[in-house]
Amino acid sequence: MFDLSLIWRLFSAPESLWVAWVKRTLLRNESFWIAPNNTQGSRIWRKLLKLRIFTSPFIQGIVRNGQTISFWHENWLSLGKLIDIIGDAGPRLLVIPLNATVSDASTPTGWRIRRTRMRHLDTVLEHIRAHPIPNAANGPDFYLWRIEAGSYKDRISSPHTWNQLRIHHPPVQWWRLLWFNHGIPRCRFITWLAIRNRLSTGVRMRRWGADQACVLCGERDESRDHLFFACPYSFTVWSDLAGRLLRNRQTPDWTDTVNSIQTFQGDRLDTILIRLVFQVTVYYLWREQNSRIHRSGFYSASQLVRLIDKVVRNRITSLQYHTDPKLHLLMQRWFTVAPP
Ligand SMILES: [Zn+2]
Repeated sequence: MFDLSLIWRLFSAPESLWVAWVKRTLLRNESFWIAPNNTQGSRIWRKLLKLRIFTSPFIQGIVRNGQTISFWHENWLSLGKLIDIIGDAGPRLLVIPLNATVSDASTPTGWRIRRTRMRHLDTVLEHIRAHPIPNAANGPDFYLWRIEAGSYKDRISSPHTWNQLRIHHPPVQWWRLLWFNHGIPRCRFITWLAIRNRLSTGVRMRRWGADQACVLCGERDESRDHLFFACPYSFTVWSDLAGRLLRNRQTPDWTDTVNSIQTFQGDRLDTILIRLVFQVTVYYLWREQNSRIHRSGFYSASQLVRLIDKVVRNRITSLQYHTDPKLHLLMQRWFTVAPP
């Protein structure tokens, strides 16, 4: 915990001499989150760098003037870091440099974010646009430490943090389900929103006065659990793609499905495949739902199955699994379990 407190100090005590020294000498004014894991600095410093991966979900940036918080590398939207969500192409797609602060990405009247035709970014861009614009009159940015899911404090709490790390750290339950090496960032992001039930489905939109039935089957209540996979259209697609991997654990129930994938008892290849197929299917079902709402396309269930199958194959091909001989059989295994 001592080490976590030191990391927290970097963010919570910008006026301290130690922090000023670390920033000048060890970080050379770069962000703590992207400083290279090199051999510079003391043993303690190297340990702090190693602990970054565990600490970053705990530190939430609160934007005031936006001049301190990194647009890409800090969690200021409660979504996680934008670079993780959008991927390495993000700075080029949104035309916001990698070292930009939140205030660099805005003007006094709005966000300086290039419109993009990348549909999968719509949800995250909506989140950014809904965030208040930084304003110099609001004073400096600051940080809060997460006590538990959705609850933050201005100081670190050892028992709470320990609890989250050790016992029921909620992201850990589905962390491995999403953040595995072989996923696809855009699919991972939409699946992550689905897991948190943050997709703007009909049921969620109704709170804003909009009415929206399921455009895939006509059911009146379009909820997350309906779309994945209680909807007859969705369930057809899902069972064609995952049926041979999940076998008798296949169900139209969302919670049971997520649990089955988390606790999946298969060999390494099947575990990779079920996670990959899951996130690609969630993404393409969501995209299909969006295309129908905007009348920009219409796939039958079997056309969507073929499209998802192709995306999965392309992903396997792009993994360059010759670098990992154990993954050599991944494509072969997919051919065995893929839809005929
Ligand atoms: Zn439906």
